[in-house]
Amino acid sequence: MAPADAWPDMPAGSIDEHRRWLEPAALCPHTGKLIIAIQTWVIRTSHHLILVDTCIGCNKTNHYFNDWHQRTDDTWYKRLLDKGIDPARVDYVFCTHLHGDHCGWNTRLMDGRWVPTFPNAKYIIARTEIDKAAGDNAPAYQESVLPVIETGQVAAVETDYRLDDNVWLEPAPGHTPGHVAVHLASVGQRAVLCGDLIHSPLQCLYPHWKYWIDFDHDQAVATRRSFLEDRSMDQYLVLTAHFPSPSAGRVTPRGDAFRFDFLP
Ligand SMILES: [Zn+2]
Repeated sequence: MAPADAWPDMPAGSIDEHRRWLEPAALCPHTGKLIIAIQTWVIRTSHHLILVDTCIGCNKTNHYFNDWHQRTDDTWYKRLLDKGIDPARVDYVFCTHLHGDHCGWNTRLMDGRWVPTFPNAKYIIARTEIDKAAGDNAPAYQESVLPVIETGQVAAVETDYRLDDNVWLEPAPGHTPGHVAVHLASVGQRAVLCGDLIHSPLQCLYPHWKYWIDFDHDQAVATRRSFLEDRSMDQYLVLTAHFPSPSAGRVTPRGDAFRFDFLP
């Protein structure tokens, strides 16, 4: 996606001064397009095996991006197995929200039917998010959410749901109404998975830019700024959904905005 399509209100020429640090990881030097990772985070606590977001999936319908429509590439699933993760042993699947690039592998097509990819998992999804997705009744809901509701595997939770002392949610509305961030705590360390409240390290410098597909632009900007302010103070490790590899880092203040320092 071209930066001007991602942030339609971005002043012309804004990218130029940042090319040096954006290229080649976050901006393609040949096409000028943003490079946006799509990924799942795997969390092992002493009690649970948890996935956060499940990418695009296979055989899914997508009216926005041709590349995502009816994909047959199951590399994601194979890599999960290669990492030693048995889908039957996943305890929880958290969805930060229900866009197609975050819930695709919730299900897979077996003998013409959508079945849960993780047959013994509880899928943790904010009730507000489910209600919005059900109202829209888009393909992502029909193919990746409704089938796991029908098997009784979805827990519709509040946006401040707490699983235990290691994992809990923070409301982060704007990109979608029920969007959440996922907090992690372990042996004195803290991290937070930010989902789509921010899509590119460039938005740390310009948190007020409005991302094209945010449901409520003003709310999304307010959530993004407040999240970045909090993270610049508490220095939690931020694990992003869409920043290029290594996708993790810390937020520090820079002028009246912020900077994202990737982990080395
Ligand atoms: Zn996304």
